[in-house]
Amino acid sequence: MTAQPSSKVRQVELPPALTVKELGDSLNVSPVEVIKRLMTHGVMASINQTVDYDTAAIIAVDLGFDPLETKPEPVAAPAAAVDEEIEDDPATLKPRPPVVTILGHVDHGKTSLLDAIRRTKVAAGEAGGITQHIGAYQVERDGKPITFIDTPGHAAFTAMRARGAQATDIAVLVVAADDGVMPQTIEAIGHAQAAGVPMIVAINKMDRAEANPDRVKQQLTEHNVLVEDYGGDVIAVPVSAAKGTGIDDLLETINLVAEVGELKANPDRAANGVVIEAELDPGRGPVATLLVKGGTLHQGDAIVLGEISGKVKAMFDDTGKRFRDAGPSAPAVIMGLEAVPEAGERFLIVGDEKQARAIVDERRRRREAAEQTDHAHVNLDTLFNEISAGKLKELIIILKADVRGSSEAIKASLERLSTAEVKVKTIYAATGNVNDNDVMLAEASNGIIIAFNTKVDPSAKKRSEAVGVEIRSYNIIYQLLEDIEKALVGMLEPVFHTVVDGHAEVRAVFKSSRLGGIAGCYVTDGTIKRSSSVKVLRRGEELAIGRCEGLKRLKDDVREVQAGYECGVVISGFDKFQEGDVLEFFHQEQAARTA
Ligand code: GDP
Repeated sequence: MTAQPSSKVRQVELPPALTVKELGDSLNVSPVEVIKRLMTHGVMASINQTVDYDTAAIIAVDLGFDPLETKPEPVAAPAAAVDEEIEDDPATLKPRPPVVTILGHVDHGKTSLLDAIRRTKVAAGEAGGITQHIGAYQVERDGKPITFIDTPGHAAFTAMRARGAQATDIAVLVVAADDGVMPQTIEAIGHAQAAGVPMIVAINKMDRAEANPDRVKQQLTEHNVLVEDYGGDVIAVPVSAAKGTGIDDLLETINLVAEVGELKANPDRAANGVVIEAELDPGRGPVATLLVKGGTLHQGDAIVLGEISGKVKAMFDDTGKRFRDAGPSAPAVIMGLEAVPEAGERFLIVGDEKQARAIVDERRRRREAAEQTDHAHVNLDTLFNEISAGKLKELIIILKADVRGSSEAIKASLERLSTAEVKVKTIYAATGNVNDNDVMLAEASNGIIIAFNTKVDPSAKKRSEAVGVEIRSYNIIYQLLEDIEKALVGMLEPVFHTVVDGHAEVRAVFKSSRLGGIAGCYVTDGTIKRSSSVKVLRRGEELAIGRCEGLKRLKDDVREVQAGYECGVVISGFDKFQEGDVLEFFHQEQAARTA
C-alpha cells in the first residue's frame, strides 16, 4: 500500500454512495485496504457492499485525499418545464368558446337541462342526431359554439379543480322553482365562488304550478348571490327543461357572460387541456374524452396525461364522427393511450412518443420521491413558517357549523384576524357535517376545514388524512379564534393528550440497597414500556406519579412487557409500593388536529 498522507493534498470526487471496490478504485488502493481501514473506524463491510459518502470521505481523508461529493445529475429538464402553465403571448390569443358546467341540488333538473340543451342541437339537424355520452358536448347559438361539461354536479367540478385543472368558465346553477334553494344549492354556490367563475342561475321547472321564481331569487340573496332584480349582476333565466322553454334564453345569456369574460386562447400551438372522462373500451382499449384548453390537438400527436403517455391514433366528436383537429374549448374522444387516465388529469402534447415516455418516467420518479417526504398541504402548525417564507398570503378556510347563525358570526370574526401579512378568507361557510366535498374543496383551494359544533363524516375524515387536509373541530368560539390567531403569529402550542399504554398490578415488593423498593408486578392489560410515565394507584386513588426508571423480566433489562407477564418495576421518586397497588403506564401524544 503506497497511498500515504502527503504534503500535496489530492482531490477526489466521490458519489453519494459507492461500493467498497469502487472506493478502492477511486483512491488507488486495493479493496482489502479499504475494508481494513473501514474496520478501524468500526465499519464492517464486504467488497460489494455500498457505503455512503460520509463514510467514504473518512477513508479518503485517511489516505491523504481531499474528498468532494459529486453533485447528483440534474433532473431532466423537459418534465420540469412541461409542468408549468403555458403562457401565451397576448398577440397570439383568439376568442374561444366558453366551457360551462351545470351545478345544483339533486333532482332540480341538471341532467334534464343538459339533455334539453343538447336537443336544440339535434333539432338543428346536425350529424344525424345520434349523440353519445362522452362527458362533454358542444352546441351552437348564433353560430357561436358553447361547450357543456356533461357530468353534472359539483363533485366532479371540484375534483377537477383539486387536480389543478380548472376547466370551467361559467357555472349554471340550477334551482327548481318549486323547491327553492336547498343544501346542495348552497354547496354549489360555495364551490363556484371558490373557483371564482361567474354564475348564471337557471330557475327550472317553471312549468310547475307551484313554481315560485321570486322566492328562489329572494333565497339566493341570503347566500350572497344577487340577481338583477335584487340589484346584483347575476342573471337568472326561467326555464323548463321538461318543456324545453327558456333554453334559448339561457344559451343567449351564456354567450353574453362569455363575451364579458373575453375568453381567449392561442389555437396555433401544441395543445394542452384536461381529461373529462376516461374508460377502458373492450374493443378500442383506453378511450378518453379530452377538453382542449389551449392550442390545437391533432391526430397523430404524442400526448402525456399525468403518468400516462400515448399517441392520438384517432379522434371522435360526440356524435361518433371522426375528425382530425380539435381547437380551444373543444371536446374530443381519443384513442391510443397506454392506460386509462383519471378524470381531471391534465394533458399536454410533446414532440414525439419517446419524449412522452421520458416525461412519464420522470414524473413517476418524482412522485415516488415526493411520497417519501410529507405532502405540503397547509396546516396550522406550519402556517407561520410558510407565511414568514412569503409562500402564503392567504389562509383559506372552509367552515362547517351546526347552525347558520354561528357560521356567519365565526366567518366575520375570522376575517377580522387578517394581518398585514396574511388574509384570513372563509371561502365557504355552511351548516352540516364536514363531508367529502368539503375536503375536496379544501384540497383544491389549499385550505383548512373548521368544524364548529358539528361532526366529520367518517369518509371525509379518511379522505382528509389521505390528502393531508387539516380538519379542526371546536365547540367554543373563542378557542377557535385564539388558535387561528396564534397560528398566524407562529405561537400555536401543540395540544397533548394522554395515552394509556397498560396496567400492572403489584404482587410483591422487593428491597434493593441501591434502588430502594422494587415492585414485582403482573401486567394485566396493554403493553408497559420503560420510556413511559407511571401513575401509582391505590384503591383507585392516585398516590404518586413518576417515570419508569427500570423494567426487568427475570434478570434482564427490557424495553417493554406485554399483558400476561411478570416483571420488576422501578419508578423515579417513589418506592413505597404495597401489594395490590396498580401501576398505570402512559405517555403524552400530540393530539391529532383532525376531529
Ligand atoms: P338532477 O338530479 O338535477 O340531474 O335532476 P334530473 O334532471 O334527473 O331531474 C329530476 C326530476 O325532475 C326528473 O323526474 C325530471 O323529469 C324532473 N324535471 C326536470 N326538469 C323539469 C322541468 O322543467 N319540469 C318538470 N315538471 N320536471 C322536471
